[in-house]
This record gives sequence, structure tokens and C-alpha cells, in this order.
Amino acid sequence: MSAFRPRDDEVHILWLSAGLGCDGDSVSLTAATQPSIEDLVLGSLPGLPRVRLHHPLLDFEVGDDFLRDWHRAARGELGAYILVLEGSVPNEELSGEGYWAAFGTDPATGQPIRTCEWIDRLAPGAWAVLAAGTCAAYGGIHAMEGNPTGAMGLADYLGDGWRSASGMPIVNLPGCPVKPDNLTETLLQLLMHRAGLVAEVPLDEMSRPRWLFNVTAREGCGRAGHNEQTDFAASYNSGACLAKLGCWGPVVDCNVGRRGWMSGIGGCAAVGGICIGCTMPGFPDRFMPFMDPPLNGRLTADLLRPHGAAVRTLRMITNAALRIEPEWRRPTRRPTTGTTPVPPPS
Ligand code: SF4
Ligand code: SF4
Repeated sequence: MSAFRPRDDEVHILWLSAGLGCDGDSVSLTAATQPSIEDLVLGSLPGLPRVRLHHPLLDFEVGDDFLRDWHRAARGELGAYILVLEGSVPNEELSGEGYWAAFGTDPATGQPIRTCEWIDRLAPGAWAVLAAGTCAAYGGIHAMEGNPTGAMGLADYLGDGWRSASGMPIVNLPGCPVKPDNLTETLLQLLMHRAGLVAEVPLDEMSRPRWLFNVTAREGCGRAGHNEQTDFAASYNSGACLAKLGCWGPVVDCNVGRRGWMSGIGGCAAVGGICIGCTMPGFPDRFMPFMDPPLNGRLTADLLRPHGAAVRTLRMITNAALRIEPEWRRPTRRPTTGTTPVPPPS
């Protein structure tokens, strides 16, 4: 067997899906189109480093063969890698004699390697670290009040001000699951930065890619015009604004309304669903019960009502006027060309 030598033109993506999660972000990864994960790993995009994806659900290798490069990374022998965490980090101090989450077996002890141990081994040497999904970013569903695991987001586990080996903060990509293209677009930006083609990924004050989280779900929503006219849906079988059915879109940072879910189509409100705030640190506790209209939505709807009724009426009047073709385009008789029509062949 030839000795393993890391390559300078290669970046490994170590996808640790053994946090407390549901693999929904892995499913998202397979749904991305701009770019797709195939584009990234097959080298379709010029100028990028070669990408080697190590994903427990997508890799051809299994068992010890699959884990070989993970152990190399832990020993600092793999070369540059991006560590992606999916799922929240449990507090193993609360797990008693067992453990909450683990991945693979330690050859030295024969014992499962806990997810926290993998993070401790791999995060310090990672070129970049990405928290994929709300669980990894903030704890998500598993970190609900009263949960027994003490689940938390990666930034809470690694601590304030944590930086990767290259000096980058954790890149948070919330969403339950993360929007597919948000994931691959961020990976693409990281790879372009690695190749020296762009500067560091611009992050906002919550360590999220700035250009992906600078709109609210409402600002990109196809139903927003109904909201300003106070045209509110009373049931889900409606194309009107969903505010009174419990939608939190006006106060939630999310680009799904603007960019759709896959290939620019779909997305929560587009297919009739309310926004339940799944990209936000307070999700899910702050947004429950999901189907109850939030107080701010009800108040805004009531305050807007007189304004909306007037706007709707004026727009209907203007719309009706604009539907009529101008008078001068409708001649009183059909014009002729002055030629005699040729009869059709018999
Ligand atoms: Fe699943 Fe949502 Fe957690 Fe991702 S963020 S692991 S989709 S529960
Ligand atoms: Fe989540 Fe709301 Fe965005 Fe849908 S619109 S993905 S529920 S934050």
C-alpha cells in the first residue's frame, strides 16, 4: 500500500452528521442545484481546489475504510479540510454512564467515539468550520427548554470568539433544514476563498453569510402584496397573506421567499405554508404553538385594515381602467390592404 500524502490542491469536506439531528441537512445537500454537490466534487467549476467529500450517507466507503481519513485528519495528516457539523452538540456531562451521540469506533479502545470527541479532535485543525442547519448553529429542536441532553449549537460548545486554524469564525447556516443552495453556495465561496479567488466569506454579526440572511421571509414573499392590502387568508386553501394563520415571515431572517427552495421554485409560503421561524436562534420555543397567529401579526393586521381597504379599492378602480384597450386602437371598420384576396385552391 502506498504511503498517504496530502495534496496542496485538495480540500476535504468532513461531514459530521452525528450531532443530534434528523439528517435533513444531508437531504438538503443532495437537493442543491446552484451549484449542486456534484458540481463541487466532480470539478465542474474551474479554478477551485479538488474536493473530496467524506459523508457517512453518500460515501462509497464504509466502516474502517470510511473512517481512515477522519483519523488522519485528527492526527493532522490529511491536509486542508472543512469540518461540517449537522445536528446539535449534546452535553455528555449529562449522559451518565452512556453517551448521547457517537460516530465510529475507537480502534484503541473499541469504544464508540462520541460526537463531542470528534469535534474536539477535528475543529482545532480545520481550515474552516461550518454549522449546517439550525441544530448545529443554535441547538434547534433538540435544545428546547427542558430537554435532558443539554443540547446546544456548535458556537456555544466551542465558546465565544472561537476561530478555525485559518482564523475564520464558525460559519452558521441556520434553517431546519438549511436551504439547499445556501449550503452549496457557501461551500463554493469557501472553496473560492481557498483558491485565492475571493476574500473571506462575509459574515454578519451572527456569523451567517451576510448576503444570504439580509432579507426577511416577508420581504421576498410572493404573498406580500396581499398583506399590504389586508387580504388575509382565513384557511390554507387560499393564495392570500398567511399572517392570520400564524406566519412569522415579517420578523424572520430567511431568503427562501426570495429565492425559492430548489432551483428557484417552492418555499414555505409559496406552497401554502406559514413561516415558523426555523432559521432563528429562538426556534422552536419562541414560535410555538406554531399554528397560533403571533400577536404582532394580529396587531399589524388590525392596524393596517383601514389603510389596506382603501388601497385595495383604489387599486381595483385603477386596474379596471387599465384593462380597457385605448379607444384609438379599435377602428370602426376592418382596414383593407387594397388588394383582391386570392381564393384558396379548389
Ligand atoms: Fe434536522 Fe432541522 Fe436539525 Fe437539520 S436543523 S438536523 S433538518 S431538525
Ligand atoms: Fe424556515 Fe420561515 Fe424560511 Fe420557511 S420561510 S425556511 S419556515 S424561516
